[in-house]
Amino acid sequence: THDIHIIGGGLAGSEAAWQLAEAGFRVKLSEMRGSGEATPAHHTDGLAELVCSNSFRSDDAESNAVGLLHAEMRGLGSLILREADIHKVPAGSALAVDRDGFSAGVTAALEAHPNITIVRERIDTLPSDGPAIIATGPLTASGLAASIAGATGADALAFFDAIAPIVHFDSIDMETAWFQSRWNKGDGKDYINCAMNREQYEAFHAGLIAGEKTDFKEWERDTPYFEGCMPIEVMAERGLDTLRFGPMKPVGLDDPRTGRWPHAVVQLRQDNAQGTLWNIVGFQTKLKHAEQVRLFRSIPGLEKAEFARLGGLHRNTFIRSPELLDSTLRLRNRPNIRFAGQITGCEGYVESASVGLMAGRFAIAELRGETLAPPPVETALGALLHHITGAAVAETYQPMNVNFGLMPPIPGRTKKADRKKMYTDRARTAMQAWLAPA
Ligand code: FAD
Repeated sequence: THDIHIIGGGLAGSEAAWQLAEAGFRVKLSEMRGSGEATPAHHTDGLAELVCSNSFRSDDAESNAVGLLHAEMRGLGSLILREADIHKVPAGSALAVDRDGFSAGVTAALEAHPNITIVRERIDTLPSDGPAIIATGPLTASGLAASIAGATGADALAFFDAIAPIVHFDSIDMETAWFQSRWNKGDGKDYINCAMNREQYEAFHAGLIAGEKTDFKEWERDTPYFEGCMPIEVMAERGLDTLRFGPMKPVGLDDPRTGRWPHAVVQLRQDNAQGTLWNIVGFQTKLKHAEQVRLFRSIPGLEKAEFARLGGLHRNTFIRSPELLDSTLRLRNRPNIRFAGQITGCEGYVESASVGLMAGRFAIAELRGETLAPPPVETALGALLHHITGAAVAETYQPMNVNFGLMPPIPGRTKKADRKKMYTDRARTAMQAWLAPA
């Protein structure tokens, strides 16, 4: 017998299991690896296996959002951070780990815990009763994915992330770019536009074609992508003007400097409720990251663009969390089920583990008959949770790393150099208030 069933022993499921077990609840943790099942990216049967890089990124809690997230997780007794610290390897200001030692450490801690039973089994349907946390990750096995699609509606589950780059608003040159929606529809100012003349457009087109791309992994090649999420360079290859009739269409957009439609336009759409992040519409791409930065900074108005996220396209199972989940990660129409980890649409090892931590804490409160308010949006945990469960626009929801753009802006005029420290100072104060006994 158990108090809660956790499915998936990756970064998120392992952290959630630890939080619940440490609070005294009996956890059944189902992990399919080790039962003869595999995913296309994992190589071992270890829990919390790191499938690619061995880095948890910056450990700087003063001026980096993911470093701040590390600090907040350590403060909440995270197993993932504890084992990462134990198995740390030299990596400058980043937190990188010996991946085998790290995974073995997490596995041993969970196996040794008297409140945790690990069962090596594949689960194919969503549990119908009793509290459960689904943490099956970006490569969720297909039977369970079908069951999730049945519960959420098929179009609320994505199998690819078609990621368009996201730009911090305060890095856009609004002397060159302008607010306007095509034909002045809506309130007339819903988009930010960057105009290109013929010469700029043709150079940009050539750059897309020549630019170095990342390859699809073998197991991604068979999964077809849809017209709606076609990489921009694939569209460019279809002809010189294909983009001018697609995402770079200039019709109905008047360049304020000429009063006329430009040759081509790059449009950005608001990406979060605060208006601090804007995505480049239709610019999902498999160009290498350095190439993207170089090419997208050639767009007039984006010369100094700072990217909250660069574009990409890979296989990734995730749900449309902003409309499906409540503020404590429960499936609105089946509240016995919580989601955690990358399947909620966060991105990255640390983020996935942090959402597992929060799902665990919300479940603990519920099992005790209490309620736990979400962490404040000024904290890294709260900002990420707020993005997942409400702030992001549901229709265009795409995976996201933690970043300062998910937090409410610092009010008033501030020097850019001081701003990161202001975010992290404010976060620490907010976290203390959240943790203080009521
Ligand atoms: P996972 O860690 O994948 O854990 C999910 C677990 O659920 C797995 O152990 C799986 O075996 C199990 N499972 C799946 N379906 C079932 C089922 N039906 N029944 C039982 N068990 C099941 N992030 C980074 O920060 N850095 C990187 O370098 C990086 N590289 C990546 C490379 C690839 C190829 C992929 C796909 C993702 C990468 N990520 C990376 C993104 C992401 O952070 C990781 O995928 C992370 O492991 C997600 O954590 P998770 O707990 O949500 O899922």
